[in-house]
Amino acid sequence: MKLLLCPHCQDVRKLQSRKTKCKCKKVWGKYLPDGVHAQVGGDRPVVLGLNNNDLVPAVKRFLGGKYLIGNTVQAWVIEKASDRVEHLETPPPTSPDP
Ligand SMILES: [Zn+2]
Repeated sequence: MKLLLCPHCQDVRKLQSRKTKCKCKKVWGKYLPDGVHAQVGGDRPVVLGLNNNDLVPAVKRFLGGKYLIGNTVQAWVIEKASDRVEHLETPPPTSPDP
């Protein structure tokens, strides 16, 4: 799973097939139709990867009342050179709210 992190407002949004923007609207992103590759834009968007192989069982354990310290989920910053995320040098789709 890919998450969009805004370095300005620290908002984190799940990327989806439709374009999503952070709270301050300075960064945006979306999944491409293949559901694997993504495009992001705006002012220095940061894309986080979340390890689904960690997340799904950890959520199931939590929902089953079996939360334990150690239900860790690996996350990482996806490097700008990744072939799975295209960083478009475009302004945000709308200007930030005053
Ligand atoms: Zn923001």
